[in-house]
Amino acid sequence: MNALEMFQEGRPDWFTSEGREQKIKEYIRLADKLVWKRQGSFLAASVLTAFYFDAVSIFTFYGIVVLTEVLDLHLGRAARNWDGSDAIVGRKILKRIAVNTVLSAVAIAAFIINIALQQEATGHFTPLFFLISASVFAAMYNSQMSGILLLRLSIYGAAFLYIALIDIFKFFPPLSSTIWLEFWTIVFVLYFIADISIKFYTGYEQQMKYVALLKEENERTKTALEVKSRFLSIVSHELRTPLTSIIGSLELIRRGHGGTLPDNVKPVLDIAARNSQRLASLVEDLLDLQKLEAGEMEFIFKPIDANDLVQEAVESAEGYASKLGITVETEFCTEPCQISGENKRLVQVMNNLLSNAIKFSDEGSTVTVRVEVIGAHVRISVEDQGVGIPEGSREVVFGKFTQVDASDIRKVGGTGLGLNITEQILDRHNAVIDYVSEVGVGSTFFIEFDRIKNVKALPGDRKEITQAA
Ligand code: ADP
Repeated sequence: MNALEMFQEGRPDWFTSEGREQKIKEYIRLADKLVWKRQGSFLAASVLTAFYFDAVSIFTFYGIVVLTEVLDLHLGRAARNWDGSDAIVGRKILKRIAVNTVLSAVAIAAFIINIALQQEATGHFTPLFFLISASVFAAMYNSQMSGILLLRLSIYGAAFLYIALIDIFKFFPPLSSTIWLEFWTIVFVLYFIADISIKFYTGYEQQMKYVALLKEENERTKTALEVKSRFLSIVSHELRTPLTSIIGSLELIRRGHGGTLPDNVKPVLDIAARNSQRLASLVEDLLDLQKLEAGEMEFIFKPIDANDLVQEAVESAEGYASKLGITVETEFCTEPCQISGENKRLVQVMNNLLSNAIKFSDEGSTVTVRVEVIGAHVRISVEDQGVGIPEGSREVVFGKFTQVDASDIRKVGGTGLGLNITEQILDRHNAVIDYVSEVGVGSTFFIEFDRIKNVKALPGDRKEITQAA
């Protein structure tokens, strides 16, 4: 059984575990990343020791170390091209890692032993410290693969013992000699290196376990989100169809298509119609939310004049405003104020801001919609003189299903979804929304878009847009 087979025996998961590819890739990634660091240290060690010892032998061994580095670089290329699917390729790469490790560790050990052999006096301080550095380096950066680390450390360990035994065999000193003290110190250092290697390895394994757990959790969350999204979509679609026919039928009856209604039935039908509308808008909001979250909402961007957008939204809100006794005023922009956007969705945004401003206002008050250019941006603001929003309510205002006054006795209806959807739509437009408000005085919601200019008409519907400076 060769060394590689022994390691395979000890850790059968090397070739079978799911983390194998990840470990090999991580090993190679770090080996590549640290190549200059390693080379720098080898060169520095060579230059330093060449000054004091035989330079020719030192640079010869250094050359061999560099050769093993070249082999590693070559291996790195093969490993990067491996996609993890072919287990045979994986085995081959692993085998090459093991062979390269033996070659590189032997070359480094030989480089260091060569220095130790050239020292006449006892106390191989320099080579031993080189070995300690090489061992700690390996423990720090090779801990992804315990077998490979063990292989390298075993070779370094043998070199340690060899250096420790040089003087013992040279001088055969009595046990009281400091040469033996050095020998025991080396054994102690070896134990220390083994200990930190284990620590690094267990730390790495622990980290891998957490990563695997996080991945699993992430997968579970994704699946749950997908189920929720599908559920929302199916329920909303299933609700929408019958609801549309209920609303239509109610409307027909209310208009007297089924004959004259008794007076006491009319208010009941009005309530039913109102609540069906509320239900329908909830279903629409849910569908929009689901589409936005699933990335299924389509946005076809075209140049839009912000004044036109506001005009369209104000016209469609006028009926609702006059029913509640609110006046809507507009202040249009006098310079070009074009933005790029999906008209239908931006009208939806404006409708939401306007209907909020109207429904949270007292009868007789005014809502002002303003369009202005601010530097390279176009700002649309909707200002009301309504109830206002208490400080620190931002999360509630823009949250899902959240309302500042969520009590059962709140006067106005709503789903608490409108501004969340609005914010998401604006986000897709690279636009922002914010508000300023004072309780009892009123609120101003404003949205800001990049201003575009130079819209050249092109054949068909396409327009070429350049951003305003
Ligand atoms: P809703 O369907 O409840 O209107 P929105 O997401 O549009 O949901 O708004 C969330 C909450 O933000 C509202 O319930 C309200 O508490 C607050 N809000 C939004 N606009 C205004 C406004 N113009 N004046 C006062 N409060 C507002």
